[in-house]
Amino acid sequence: MGASINQIKNMLHITSLHKSYAIGDSSLHVLKGIDLSVETGEMVAIMGSSGSGKSTLLNIIGMLDEADSGTYILDGLPIDDLTEKKAAVYRNKFLGFIFQSFNLINYKSAIENVALPLYYQGLKRKKRLELARFHLGKVGLDAWAEHLPKELSGGQKQRVAIARALAANPKLLLADEPTGALDTKTSHDIMAFIQQLNDEGKTILMVTHEEDIANMCKRIVRLKDGVIIEDTPVDQVRASQYV
Ligand code: ADP
Ligand code: MG
Repeated sequence: MGASINQIKNMLHITSLHKSYAIGDSSLHVLKGIDLSVETGEMVAIMGSSGSGKSTLLNIIGMLDEADSGTYILDGLPIDDLTEKKAAVYRNKFLGFIFQSFNLINYKSAIENVALPLYYQGLKRKKRLELARFHLGKVGLDAWAEHLPKELSGGQKQRVAIARALAANPKLLLADEPTGALDTKTSHDIMAFIQQLNDEGKTILMVTHEEDIANMCKRIVRLKDGVIIEDTPVDQVRASQYV
């Protein structure tokens, strides 16, 4: 592989990434040559109007989907032609996910949801529950450990999802519209928490279409018609000033 030392120290290095979806007999070219590097410790917002390819890009970065062409290096590791099994192992080891719709398992309690990814790490049940309780505590939900998702507010559900994403100590946290289903106050509350994680060193890549949320990140990458049209640093707004 031709990856230079410089590329290898990036958390993420993407070049000339393309992705099309087949729709009947035709195809929709969604990503048209994306070049993107993210360093360890960054907090990046990916912005763009609905349909601009934000989720597609995030899903490829998250190894939930595959690009048609281009290169993708994650923490020095070339990601291409992975078997499903290997992709799952890398996903579990390197990545945490947060989604707009929380994606919690409805019939499992908060603590069981948080413990679930640890199962795939081969930890014993006692250790899994211990770690899950620790991470639930970090998001302030100690008292809610045994509750089902339907008994929690939107903000609490997203906190459980954050705890779950962090349980396996991922190198990179990926969030697709993490505040998209929350009211303004709860959004700021969640963003304050995500900023704190970044302050502690976690690398964060977040999709959003809300300017105020993007301004709480340190860098904004704008997508339009499948290409990056802007990539600028921002003076981060602290969510805590609203909370
Ligand atoms: P965004 O997250 O920016 O709203 P997406 O990445 O979800 O955009 O989608 C980009 C485009 O690709 C949209 O036109 C969408 O309809 C289309 N698309 C997304 N996923 C699929 C899929 N699995 N099959 C076909 N088309 C898709
Ligand atoms: Mg999307």
